[in-house]
Amino acid sequence: MNYSALVLDIEGTVCPISFVKDTLFPYFVNKVPTVVNDIDQQNDTVKQILCQFKIDDKNELINHILGLVSNDIKDPILKQLQGYIWAEGYNSSEIKAPVYKDAIDLINRHNNVYIYSSGSVKAQKLLFGHVADTSDSTKSIDMQSQINGYFDINTSGAKIDSQSYINILKDIKMIDTPEKVLFLSDNPSELEAAKKAGLATGLAIREGNAVVPNVNDYTCYHDFTKLL
Ligand SMILES: [Mg+2]
Repeated sequence: MNYSALVLDIEGTVCPISFVKDTLFPYFVNKVPTVVNDIDQQNDTVKQILCQFKIDDKNELINHILGLVSNDIKDPILKQLQGYIWAEGYNSSEIKAPVYKDAIDLINRHNNVYIYSSGSVKAQKLLFGHVADTSDSTKSIDMQSQINGYFDINTSGAKIDSQSYINILKDIKMIDTPEKVLFLSDNPSELEAAKKAGLATGLAIREGNAVVPNVNDYTCYHDFTKLL
């Protein structure tokens, strides 16, 4: 492979698009009642987060939090609580990130890999720190040392904005040779934005991904073995 750097999307590209919806969100929703009801036994971090909601009644607080989730409201306190509960889940091995084997191999073999996802850098690091071992499902592997940098919408901008990719090119010192950087994503709008910034692009086609109507416009990858 002749690319000097890889920039990888996460959901729908290196792991199933369903991971957030079918694993992370249900995990959070299941934990909320216990965390709120046992608030006295929780550590100061989680107490401080819950305090910010300013709701004393426990049932009311649980319903409020679950309401934010079901209505997909981007609440900063909710984000903090989710970050905390997911970190606990990863650290206790209850959650492991289902990164595809071919994506693990690609990341391991290329020495200049970056991640760009709308999920926060913190969440990205947790994910790559706890990747399900494809040969032993009871184990997880820490892939963080294989990744040179992480970008999200706060560090770089929206994923469908070509300026974001220019920002990343500058950060990874590839602004003069953008064609040597390959961006892989399942989202054609993101690929178009990256293409405009001069990057090479590839469309990830994975089970569960939205169907792309003009699929012939892209270099498609059902897995990344031919990139190895
Ligand atoms: Mg994606």
